[in-house]
Amino acid sequence: MPRRYVPAVAAVLLCLTVTSAFAQDKTLNLYSARHYQTDEALYANFTRQTGIKINRIEAGENELLERIKNEGANSPADVFLTVDASRLAKADELNLFAPVNSAVLTAKIPAQLRTRDWYAFSTRARVILYNKIAVNPADVQDYQDLANPKLKGKVCVRSGSHPYNLSLGASMLEHLGEQKTAEWARGMVANFARAPKGGDTDQIKAVAAGECGVALVNSYYVARLLRSEKPDEKKAMEAVAIVWPNQKSTGTHVNISGGGVLKTAPNKEAAIKFLEYLASDQAQVYFADGNNEWPVVAGVKTSNPALEAMGKFRAETINVGALARNQAAVQKIYDRAGWQ
Ligand code: FE
Repeated sequence: MPRRYVPAVAAVLLCLTVTSAFAQDKTLNLYSARHYQTDEALYANFTRQTGIKINRIEAGENELLERIKNEGANSPADVFLTVDASRLAKADELNLFAPVNSAVLTAKIPAQLRTRDWYAFSTRARVILYNKIAVNPADVQDYQDLANPKLKGKVCVRSGSHPYNLSLGASMLEHLGEQKTAEWARGMVANFARAPKGGDTDQIKAVAAGECGVALVNSYYVARLLRSEKPDEKKAMEAVAIVWPNQKSTGTHVNISGGGVLKTAPNKEAAIKFLEYLASDQAQVYFADGNNEWPVVAGVKTSNPALEAMGKFRAETINVGALARNQAAVQKIYDRAGWQ
């Protein structure tokens, strides 16, 4: 390098050093497994309010977890956001989260929707969806009803190793104990209309087409199809209806989207600020609306015509931590029942 350039290079380097030291305080590295349209507004508002810029890495949850694990102590990740308690449980198992001490979060997030290490920011329900011609709703009021031999050859559901079903089983285990949960799983498998395949949307379409009489699906998939403008999807939704399960007993199983601060977070303060922001009224609306879910903070109202059309329900009240804790036990129960 010609000598006369050296001072210029040094000046640039100095400048870069200063900028990055500044950026350290004003940046948040977010590893997120969620990506919805309203997320743009969600993140832009945080930056506007706090001056903290968000660097987002979006990928599948397993990929992100793998990445955080491999980056180890040098991981730039500050916050990990994902869906389903079972996936947060996986992060917990890897010991990735740092406990957060925030009076704001403790005050705003209901006790059953947080653990020591992570918080829920929206909820979704696992509902029963039935074909209005093929099935009498009186026969499918509870999750347990799906194991009744009356429904032989009528039940469709995705894989038993999928987080949504593991979390449902974890809830059953908490409410009913091991023996009854195992009986339920065996009964479900005996009633399958077909071997588990596809996602929740595929189950909804199969019920609408009459290939199955009844399925277990997450509420936001139903809401998404209810809001669809596509003629075939509109028609499909006319053939089906939902039941909020277990209204007279334990309440409908509710799962969450959520996140936590990583143990190795270089910007811990910004990370906690971000979680507190997610609990603000405005962010709650964006966060929930992004995926047709419900806010966790009491009193926050969203206006989602599809969710409103689905009506009100009573949710279970067990702690989301129990859903996380029971995952391994439930997988064993499903394996033994042959729910692949
Ligand atoms: Fe989903």
